[in-house]
Amino acid sequence: MSAVDRPALAAAAAAAHGIDRLLVAAGPNLRWLTGFTGSNGLAVLDVAGSGGGIFLTDFRYMEQSAAQLSSVWEVRQSAQELLGPGLADVFAQAPQGALARVGFDDAQVSVAAHRRIVEELRGRVELVPSGGIIERLREVKEPAEVARVRAAAELADHALLETLERGLRGRTEREVATELEVAMLRLGAEGVSFAPIVAHGAYGALPHAEPRDIAIAGGTLVTIDWGCRLDGYCSDATRTFAVGEIGAFERSIYGLVLEAQEAGLAAVRPGPLGREIDAVAREVIERAGHGEHFGHGLGHGVGLEIHEGPRLSRMGETPLAPGMLVTVEPGVYVPGVCGVRIEDLVCVTETGHDVLNGLPKALQQVD
Ligand code: ZN
Ligand code: ZN
Repeated sequence: MSAVDRPALAAAAAAAHGIDRLLVAAGPNLRWLTGFTGSNGLAVLDVAGSGGGIFLTDFRYMEQSAAQLSSVWEVRQSAQELLGPGLADVFAQAPQGALARVGFDDAQVSVAAHRRIVEELRGRVELVPSGGIIERLREVKEPAEVARVRAAAELADHALLETLERGLRGRTEREVATELEVAMLRLGAEGVSFAPIVAHGAYGALPHAEPRDIAIAGGTLVTIDWGCRLDGYCSDATRTFAVGEIGAFERSIYGLVLEAQEAGLAAVRPGPLGREIDAVAREVIERAGHGEHFGHGLGHGVGLEIHEGPRLSRMGETPLAPGMLVTVEPGVYVPGVCGVRIEDLVCVTETGHDVLNGLPKALQQVD
């Protein structure tokens, strides 16, 4: 499945937290660690071992686990709540009083599940909050993961080009969004990575606008933010188009966002912190007097999840490293007038970056 020994990598990272076991519940972290795509599973990673451990799931997923997991995992069936009695069975033979330090993801495990574990495993384990270990490892992608995101980005581009062939003017935002979604599925995507955003005119000033049943009028800008999922990996891109002749003000906003986007993009390479890349693009927009119209971060990591680390925002303290996949997506949103966002998805390389999506960024007129 993966060229890198992820369980060994995770065990090494977890060891730095002084824990004996790390619990990883179903979701993107478990998929990354084990390859398991089902909805109910729990890995109990043996931190001291060379990587591997016990994998709990219920009878529905026994066959799937055998197919998806490598032999470093001892798959066990449990009919009980995994984060509770199921886990208690794993530690049943451990002598009372010999506390195992068990790391759990404090951002994912519910208060109820935490209470269950404490009650079921009293005297056997000590729970240690250890969130973020797997997320941080997931930030740096392997070449095979980059290839999947690139394929998803190419498919999404292709789907948008098909959708634009039928024009934008006179069609409702919702029609365009639905057609785009169907095109991505028809071309082989397993789903969308998020519901496409199609917003025109003043409505484009809402960064997360939901498509409306309102026809796209001439003389407006239309922002389309879309992405698909392929082999579990997400793509994400945004383009803003002109429908018919737009005014000088809209044109100037477009030019400003493009300048900021290209400046931010040019800064993407190994070394700088996320917030430093954010600052490069933000400064362009601030200098033009539109600082208050750019109210979100410059970008985010993309992978098994549409929003993951590292963040390119004022709070981004992670230095960029080769293999990270991030978006660069400045926007200027002028309330009641218009909005422009331009977003590329890029891979940080040894020497700079590589853009994974490919549609042109010069202002394009689509009718
Ligand atoms: Zn996006
Ligand atoms: Zn994005």
